Amino acid sequence: MSSLFPALTHRPGALVALRFGERSLTYAQLAAAAGSAGDRVRGAGRVAVWATPSLETAVGVVGALLAGQAVVPLNPKSGEKELGHILSDSAPTAVLAAPDDELPAAVRGLERIDVDVYGSGPVLDDGSAADDDPALVVYTSGTTGPPKGAVLPHRAIATTLDALADAWQWTGDDVLVHGLPLFHVHGLVLGVLGPLRRGGAVRHLGRFGTEALARELNSGATMMFGVPTMYHRIAEALPEDPALAKALGGARLLVSGSAALPVHDHERITAATGRRVIERYGMTETLMNTSVRADGEPRAGTVGVPLPGVELRLVEEDGSPITSYDGETVGEIQVRGPNLFTGYLNRPDATAAAFTADGWFRTGDMAVRDPDGYVRIVGRKATDLIKSGGYKIGAGEIENALLEHPGVREAAVTGEPDADLGERIVAWIVPADAQSPPGAAELADHVAGRLAPHKRPRVVHCLDALPRNDMGKILKRALSHD
Ligand code: ATP
Ligand code: MG
Repeated sequence: MSSLFPALTHRPGALVALRFGERSLTYAQLAAAAGSAGDRVRGAGRVAVWATPSLETAVGVVGALLAGQAVVPLNPKSGEKELGHILSDSAPTAVLAAPDDELPAAVRGLERIDVDVYGSGPVLDDGSAADDDPALVVYTSGTTGPPKGAVLPHRAIATTLDALADAWQWTGDDVLVHGLPLFHVHGLVLGVLGPLRRGGAVRHLGRFGTEALARELNSGATMMFGVPTMYHRIAEALPEDPALAKALGGARLLVSGSAALPVHDHERITAATGRRVIERYGMTETLMNTSVRADGEPRAGTVGVPLPGVELRLVEEDGSPITSYDGETVGEIQVRGPNLFTGYLNRPDATAAAFTADGWFRTGDMAVRDPDGYVRIVGRKATDLIKSGGYKIGAGEIENALLEHPGVREAAVTGEPDADLGERIVAWIVPADAQSPPGAAELADHVAGRLAPHKRPRVVHCLDALPRNDMGKILKRALSHD
């Protein structure tokens, strides 16, 4: 197949490709440094990358891919136990790191290869990699259980990035800004490989902050990627920060993903900036499945339509596909297409269970579709679908309703066993003012007034913070086991 990164040799060498903090690399420098890193890992088999948000990570990943080696990005914030699991599962031969990274004991057994971002090696071209060759082994976020290593072939990366280019009118003129971690697909595949495949640039914020974001948007960045917790911080900051509103108002595209963007945050951002946030839906296993299109109608609370090349269907509990979209019938999202992974590493059981006999991937996410095909995610089958009093209720819409209450800053909804109802609805909130949290009855009425009486929470717990993972995803397992 053709190279993942034709821009490395086709774009003007003096053009800036990557900027992390104060340091940047042009396309010519990146091609040389990636050639040097790639040359050193050629033939190594699988290589790990100590995925700090740095030039070294970007150069190491691109170099290894060009040299045809599969890359396992490691989360530098993982505990020893999780690192141990990932390393014994993926068995890399070497680890790419920045010269001043201190590696923990779990990683020290591997051959260490320091990435020299100003190094120079032969210009590599991965055009010889086959479509099916593994490019990345990315571990899932571990929201519902221990992380599983998804093997992503070159084809999946190329097709998902090109589908996004189509949906977002994403070109080499775009300059992306974000502060995402680089050990999941959002930050790494979309946030680094994406701009490089287009021939544009990425500026990484290191740590996400609204001030730095505004500065980048005011100095040439055209698009922003973020997770909902970042958009929440933006929504909270906007009333006091007209400069931020102006900067966001000038962006070409604001994109959210990795978890549901609360409607309340979306609406506050739109009211203050005049911009809509584009929501897209994907998974480690499938890369990107749907998105609101840049030229389409944005609709708060939806993740848009299937991307070009992605087949998507909703399936009832008995396995039968839902054939007409009424915006109400809930089914599991199943997808098929060139964007899919080839399987979980060392988990033939989990891989087999994840696919139907005719090759559809079971996402485990539940959704409805509007009559015109827009997908609205209701939540995960395992944790977000509450069966109460004969109804199937999605946690998401109750969370959205709770977040509209001025006394609620964060909200999560779960179900717990109930003798009468089967399950009862439980709300976990972080109050806006810890001294005077809203009462349970008041919140129940608030929800019942917006949705339907049977969707009112029966129990309300107040917390200082919701348990979240490093992508800001709410860990509902931790809530219900409290
Ligand atoms: P694990 O599979 O280990 O339990 P995870 O599912 O959180 O963790 P990821 O692959 O990083 O790991 O996340 C994919 C999931 O994130 C999707 O299945 C979906 O539940 C959720 N998700 C992603 N984007 C969106 C979105 N825009 N709206 C709602 N949910 C989303
Ligand atoms: Mg998952």
